Amino acid sequence: MNCSVCKNGELFNTVTDYQTKFKGEYIVVRNVPVQQCNVCGEYIMSYATIKQIEDMIQSKKKPDAYIEVSVFDMTG
Ligand SMILES: [Zn+2]
Repeated sequence: MNCSVCKNGELFNTVTDYQTKFKGEYIVVRNVPVQQCNVCGEYIMSYATIKQIEDMIQSKKKPDAYIEVSVFDMTG
């Protein structure tokens, strides 16, 4: 399957860190399986994977790890 963004690259299976927000908090999900373009770097996540992430975030009582997040503000 070719990349739908740049039309040139090919998609390959890999894992990435996925960032999202849940209840006002930033969350990182590590080792999320995605298909990534070898040219533009765009990645595609399946609906099943997104659903799996949502279920995991909502059912897990405690994260596996905590990291510090740097915040930059363009208005500051
Ligand atoms: Zn691409």
